[in-house]
Amino acid sequence: MSAVTLEDVDRQIRNGFRFLRFKPAIEALFLKDYAASRIKLSPIWAVVGTLIYDLVYFGDRTMMADVFQQLVMVRFGIFTPFALITVVALRRWPSALNYDLLAISVAVLGVLLPMSVAMHSGSPYLFVYQNGNVAAFLFFVIALRPRFVTILIGLTLMCAVQFTTTKLSGAFDDVVYTGIITFYVTLAIFLVLSAYFSEHKDRLNFLNQLRGSLLHVQLEQKSERDELTSLFNRHSLDRMRSSIWRPDGEVQSVAIIMLDIDRFKLFNDVHGHMEGDDCLRAVCQCISREIGANGTAFRFGGEEILVLLPDTTCEVAFAIAERTRRSIETFAIPHRGLDGGHVTASLGVTCGRPSQDTLEDLLKTADAALYEAKRAGRNMVIVAHGPFLNSSDEPQNDHDRDFGEPLSAA
Ligand code: GH3
Ligand code: MG
Ligand code: MG
Repeated sequence: MSAVTLEDVDRQIRNGFRFLRFKPAIEALFLKDYAASRIKLSPIWAVVGTLIYDLVYFGDRTMMADVFQQLVMVRFGIFTPFALITVVALRRWPSALNYDLLAISVAVLGVLLPMSVAMHSGSPYLFVYQNGNVAAFLFFVIALRPRFVTILIGLTLMCAVQFTTTKLSGAFDDVVYTGIITFYVTLAIFLVLSAYFSEHKDRLNFLNQLRGSLLHVQLEQKSERDELTSLFNRHSLDRMRSSIWRPDGEVQSVAIIMLDIDRFKLFNDVHGHMEGDDCLRAVCQCISREIGANGTAFRFGGEEILVLLPDTTCEVAFAIAERTRRSIETFAIPHRGLDGGHVTASLGVTCGRPSQDTLEDLLKTADAALYEAKRAGRNMVIVAHGPFLNSSDEPQNDHDRDFGEPLSAA
């Protein structure tokens, strides 16, 4: 998901957040979520808002007949295209900051354009007409729902435009003008307060949702992964089995590597179990690195690792196994029980066709190949039932050998 951990979120919930701001990493996630949800709704609000805004055309005609032409021009010639362009711009450059900037622009322009025309009107209906801007205030805060700071700045600008144009119109005496100011300031204060509490609640919900998804990921990982090595556990082998042994037969071939650390009991006896755990972890890292995206590694038993390689031939599986063996050997973890030696591993490899061989068949064969590797001196890869049978393309490593016959049949 990101670098944010469950502990980070828990700490943020416990400590709270001041000034509607989280710690940077969580804030970045919140802004991403905020931008995505607002931008998703922006086409709806652009269409609905512009439609309602343009319907005021009828009010312009009846109430503001003397400046009707100019009002039509600003409504249809400036505001409508601008509002629609903002939607395209947000799709092209989606971000929380861009959303907030465009929301302010739309809201301020929505008040500024008709008011800058209406203030030149001699209409007796200007008082009623200018009250229509309440809708713009509500639309900005309730429909567009930008962040609190944006709402604070936006409402301040909208009030400034409203008061200036109303004053410049010269249509009202001081008492009416003060009444208008009082009304809009009260409205703005209510809207600002509700925006604060609404964002606070949104942020709390976000934290709880984030906590839920992180918890889910953690539980999923715990149920599928081995805690010590972080490899998949045996339980998740079933899931992998059904993705390879599928009725549609899409996976044509599968190879298996069974790996067991050499003289690991002795390692534990000499170095202690804690170092034994570290050694196991390091070996598993070598395995993961070497198999990369070719397959999946499972902790099969204590220090026995199973690697499943779908769509892989025995030849390729052997190459991967041999690379892994060498990687463990050259990692050179000292093994004091072995007289100046290092930790090594033995590997049994086999391959087959999911349509013909069951997982159990292949496990048995790989296990027997592993046993053979142990018997033959350890630190080697043995391929059972592989393509090297009677092949001139024999593995070059001295240790590598083949059983000759499938072990499962032996
Ligand atoms: P071989 O070369 O024949 O495999 O010899 P070995 O001593 O490795 O024999 P075996 O594979 O039977 O020994 C497994 C040992 O692995 C026994 C157990 O003490 C150790 N082991 C299994 N799981 C863990 C673990 O999680 N941590 C540690 N430290 N040791 C483990
Ligand atoms: Mg062992
Ligand atoms: Mg073992």
